[in-house]
Amino acid sequence: MSQRISALILDLDDTLIDTRAAMVEAGTLVAKDLWPDADPRRWRGFGERYCFDPQQFYERYARGEIEFMEMRRLRFEETRGHHELADVGDRFSTFETDYWSAFEKSQALFDDTLELLDAADDAGLPMSLVTNSSQLLADMKVRISGLGSRFVSVLTTGTYGIGKPDRRLFDHARTDLGVPAAEILSVGDHLGRDITPAVQLGMQAAWLVRSDSHQSVPDNLDERVQVVATLGEVVALLG
Ligand SMILES: [Mg+2]
Repeated sequence: MSQRISALILDLDDTLIDTRAAMVEAGTLVAKDLWPDADPRRWRGFGERYCFDPQQFYERYARGEIEFMEMRRLRFEETRGHHELADVGDRFSTFETDYWSAFEKSQALFDDTLELLDAADDAGLPMSLVTNSSQLLADMKVRISGLGSRFVSVLTTGTYGIGKPDRRLFDHARTDLGVPAAEILSVGDHLGRDITPAVQLGMQAAWLVRSDSHQSVPDNLDERVQVVATLGEVVALLG
């Protein structure tokens, strides 16, 4: 990648913060409270399946097909059913409250996150955070992880009522950053949501495929996409 980079668009979940680990941890803790007599392996199993969401309820929410709370309840019931855990009736609301409390306590940056953010700050590169989190969740994650003042803007699904991969969100970020699209590097762990729309707008893109992410790089990947295994490799791209 030889083009000049003057600004960054960054994804949040599983790019800067280890959201998957926090979700598994939160789900496991809450399952333990809801089903104290169940086999302890089911607590962890619940946490993992709830996080990995094999029925892709989160994708349906991201496409605007279902509301956030409906997504959560469908995911909960699917996971509970799969692990043959007892119906908890209206205690789903307890799950929601306890889950978010546990999730908040489980927030953690990846080891290489500050390396990238510090390098970008040192190079004077403005950064915009673009996330499919709700405003409330994004605010919490940014606050807990201490990233609050790092970004020119934080764009969530609530900011304009749209989420990634809608290219308009990237275009709004470009406006906030105040530089041409060709000088922006978009960094994220999801090819379809973080990388493809940026490339379509003429931005540069670094697709983060961490070694434990269970992702595979397709043979026909657009040659404009740089694949990186760590955020440290993104630092090297900044020149
Ligand atoms: Mg992500």
